[in-house]
Amino acid sequence: MISNIQPNISDAEWEIMRVAWTNQKVTSKQITAIVKEKMNWKQATIKTLIGRLVDKGMLQTEALGNKYLYSPLITEEESLKSKTNDFFDHVCNRKVGLTIANLISEATLSHADVQMLEELLKGKRNEAVDVVSCDCIPGQCDCQNHQH
Ligand SMILES: [Zn+2]
Repeated sequence: MISNIQPNISDAEWEIMRVAWTNQKVTSKQITAIVKEKMNWKQATIKTLIGRLVDKGMLQTEALGNKYLYSPLITEEESLKSKTNDFFDHVCNRKVGLTIANLISEATLSHADVQMLEELLKGKRNEAVDVVSCDCIPGQCDCQNHQH
């Protein structure tokens, strides 16, 4: 798994990033117009969130006349990857397969998605191990037979 080198961003900040990823260059006014309905936030709240994202190196600022344009410094794909890796860091290695299976079974997938997953799994078959090693600490999973 790739180590998490990206800043941790909150769910609220994620909503702002989605606007930046979709529109690339946006003013805080445009961001407000887009998320206002969904999130019911005030302009001041949105400005705070944008400020945090700039501090975290997620957004860059560019002056345009008397306003600022914000654009993403990290792609949506990179962020999603980091977020899912982050999640799996909190799961016993031996439960990852089952967790992924649950995700797949609950997802609505296109034919192209299914094709992609089938091809991925064909490759995985060649690298599969007999038993996935677990590096949890004693008491956080029961696959190592820890005694207390
Ligand atoms: Zn474990």
